Amino acid sequence: MNNVIICLFASAGFDRATQGVAGAGRRLADALGGQLHAIMLGAFTATDEAALAAIADHVSVATELADYQPETCLAALTQLCQPLAPRAVLLSNDTYSQELAPRLAFRLGGSAVADGVELISHSEHLQVKRAVYGGKAVATIALKRNPAVVWLRARAFEPAAPRDVTANVEPAALTLTTNSATRIVERKSESAGEARLEDAQIIVSGGRGLGGPEPFEDLKALAATINAQVAASRAACDAGWCPPTWQVGQTGKKVAPGLYLAVAISGASQHLAGMSDSKVVAAINTDADAPIFKHCRFGIVEDYKKVVPLLREKLAAARQ
Ligand SMILES: Cc1cc2nc3c(=O)[nH]c(=O)nc-3n(C[C@H](O)[C@H](O)[C@H](O)COP(=O)(O)OP(=O)(O)OC[C@H]3O[C@@H](n4cnc5c(N)ncnc54)[C@H](O)[C@@H]3O)c2cc1C
Repeated sequence: MNNVIICLFASAGFDRATQGVAGAGRRLADALGGQLHAIMLGAFTATDEAALAAIADHVSVATELADYQPETCLAALTQLCQPLAPRAVLLSNDTYSQELAPRLAFRLGGSAVADGVELISHSEHLQVKRAVYGGKAVATIALKRNPAVVWLRARAFEPAAPRDVTANVEPAALTLTTNSATRIVERKSESAGEARLEDAQIIVSGGRGLGGPEPFEDLKALAATINAQVAASRAACDAGWCPPTWQVGQTGKKVAPGLYLAVAISGASQHLAGMSDSKVVAAINTDADAPIFKHCRFGIVEDYKKVVPLLREKLAAARQ
């Protein structure tokens, strides 16, 4: 069967990353001559449901999965995917999807790939491109066992245009299991009001060279003048200077803003892996040989303490 399934968590809403998954699913289903099934996990808004119904052939909603529990969700997705015998199951780049994708592939007897940036369907096996070696190379991976279960990099895929036909939105036919081996003991939410880093158009990111948590206040002030989001390297997050949700990189968030300003970040390959899709990279670093300078269009070799306040002043003046 050449069905394609997209699994979308309501927690992210129908944001740009999710729209990309829907677009990728639509194009893949069309290329394979199959149907696109959307499984919505949790309660979506009516607008989001309608937007998805204009892209997918079938939409089922599992509102009972709004409260994410990994085992329950995995069992539910297995139940919903199995009867459709899909060729591919696509997920977004959120942490729930990243956690579930390989386990779902195993349960469905398929194969999994993380962080896909391109799907190729014209050969016998579905192929997925993804960055490897911290973004230094691109691997094309043939998924020999169906279904291919892939979570996709945010913003790597274009959304799909709405079609003239609209799919029915139906409740998912589920028998939920509750005997779970794992239990969520605490949930912490990212502070409300902050846009998702993955959707940010401008990011000001700080690294270990800032020397402590206080300079992040200066970065926040700079970010506020240009409507930017603040992010960080793993070194800064691990030091506890900023929340772990700010981490960009191989084990953090994958971002693709129009402008990424790296302040006191050396540019380790693991950091580059998360931000190399940025359109323009600029850096401030005291070390002229810092690797980040090889990857940026604009670079200032200087102490950030001198540059950041000046930059903020000039940008604030320019915006007036
Ligand atoms: C498996 C694995 C996964 C990883 N995943 C990630 C990841 O997801 N994200 C990530 O970021 N890292 C990740 N890392 C860590 C990564 O290898 C680096 O250690 C980390 O990115 C370094 O952070 P940094 O650039 O802030 O610090 P450093 O490498 O210490 O760089 C600090 C920079 O600040 C500059 N500096 C110092 N003082 C000033 C000043 N006053 N003004 C201006 N510049 C100054 C220095 O010249 C230096 O270039 C991972 C590592 C491993 C092994």
